[in-house]
Amino acid sequence: MSSLDTNQNHLDSNVVEFISRPKQMFVDGEWVNALSGDTFDTLDPATANVITSVPRSDTQDVERAITAARRAFDTGPWPRMTPAERQRILWRIGEGILAHADTLAQLECIDNGKSVAVARSVDVVWAAEIFFYYAGWATKLEGRTVPVSVPWATDARFHAFTIREPVGVCAQIVPWNFPLVMAAFKLAPALACGNTVVLKPAEQTPLTALLLAGIIADADVPAGVVNVLTGFGDAGAALAAHPDVDKVAFTGSTEVGKKIVHAAAGNLKKVSLELGGKSPQIVFADADFGTAIPGVSNGFLFNHGQTCTAGTRLLIEDRIFDEFTAGVAEFASSLKIGPGLDPTNDIGPLVSEEQLTKVTDYLQAGLHQGARALAGGSRHGDSGFYVEPTLLVDVKPGFTVYQEEIFGPVAVAVPFNRDSGIREAANDTPFGLAASIWTRDVSTVHKTVAQIKAGTVWVNCHNAFDAALPFGGYKQSGWGRELGEGAIDEYTQTKSVNIAL
Ligand code: NAP
Ligand code: MG
Repeated sequence: MSSLDTNQNHLDSNVVEFISRPKQMFVDGEWVNALSGDTFDTLDPATANVITSVPRSDTQDVERAITAARRAFDTGPWPRMTPAERQRILWRIGEGILAHADTLAQLECIDNGKSVAVARSVDVVWAAEIFFYYAGWATKLEGRTVPVSVPWATDARFHAFTIREPVGVCAQIVPWNFPLVMAAFKLAPALACGNTVVLKPAEQTPLTALLLAGIIADADVPAGVVNVLTGFGDAGAALAAHPDVDKVAFTGSTEVGKKIVHAAAGNLKKVSLELGGKSPQIVFADADFGTAIPGVSNGFLFNHGQTCTAGTRLLIEDRIFDEFTAGVAEFASSLKIGPGLDPTNDIGPLVSEEQLTKVTDYLQAGLHQGARALAGGSRHGDSGFYVEPTLLVDVKPGFTVYQEEIFGPVAVAVPFNRDSGIREAANDTPFGLAASIWTRDVSTVHKTVAQIKAGTVWVNCHNAFDAALPFGGYKQSGWGRELGEGAIDEYTQTKSVNIAL
């Protein structure tokens, strides 16, 4: 039963109907409870009220879902369908997402805390776009003909070629910061390539994955191809360790990413990881302040800073440091804080009380070590999990706020001198997910891009993603690539065929 009384009157009837219905998981084409009958609550972080409860899966449910995915892969129609049929089904999923856009956006807003306007214009549109993009790939999984010699078979002639085949059963474990988008990142390429999937959304944000499972079923994806298990980290761990899973794809913390690698070792399943970041935004003195001040600010404040690519280390050329940081502080302080259901609010709550505590602990540690807040610096209000947009200066590289991923609306700013170079400061972190460069000088752009150890470098923008552009991390930010052709490589394996003629 729902007890979302404070917000019900702002919700569409479809959303009220969805959350009022008992929630079930999607396994082998059917809506089911956890075999144990256990459930857990999901909260609205703007109010800390319970929205609804969902099944809590455990190892028995994991077993049931993997058995279904295994059968769907080994003997079901999905990997054997024509590419054009899979293409049409993926396209229908994209259309289904858009048909449910307002419902998905409101659900994402109340489950995660993000702005309903952003959920509608970014999360939902982007998730649909990813399915449209990978629909196209289903018909383009081409191998190559390879001219071969086989040096010791001097009299023979050969015809050799490669085939791209699906990997098999994929476990996909996603976080709470972009629940629908992260599900799309994982599901769309896996399905385009003919794999079957067990998806586990984060415990904080299970709702849009369940609605998406219904959209996928309505698009005529056969039973067992997509299974969605709601649950906690123990269900994720069971998926990652299971011998019948051929691949695990994970997005989340570096700490859990390392556990996934260990769990995957039993059957050496394929692993792809998209982990944390502490991405620099490098601002040169010739940057266009009109673009760069809001751009850099949004680069660390988007999604309330709960973005793996958040540009949270501002490296500002020394001669503009005071002026530029004052501009960012003014921008950050002008933002309106409040519930995401009010589309005029810019900064919503963090996802959970745990995340609130984590972020405010970082702030206190930073201020204690000697940092100074040019904007924000503490919790906002005393109900809901809000943190003020914060810019810290007087920060030294040894401070924890400089070193660690905070995952809240917090950036540190430090000056750099152009003559001493930017390489060391830019790469002074175990992470290597993303970076941005702000300058009007094309030569500075190219020289700086070459020095940055990160999977994505944006220039005069930040968080400008596209389904066609591979995304992933250098160093401890991950293994493999999502999006673009990068994800096709992750979800296929290459078979070489050599025919003696
Ligand atoms: P997390 O623990 O890494 O959670 C990510 C996903 O992994 C969730 O679905 C989670 O399930 C699952 N999981 C947890 N333990 C597992 C295990 N041993 N084996 C397999 N799966 C497991 O992240 P979090 O605790 O939600 O957030 C902690 C920090 O991670 C954040 O403060 C942030 O710094 C970072 N983070 C990064 C990203 C990113 O996009 N790179 C996203 C989210 C968080 P449960 O939800 O049930 O725990
Ligand atoms: Mg929630």
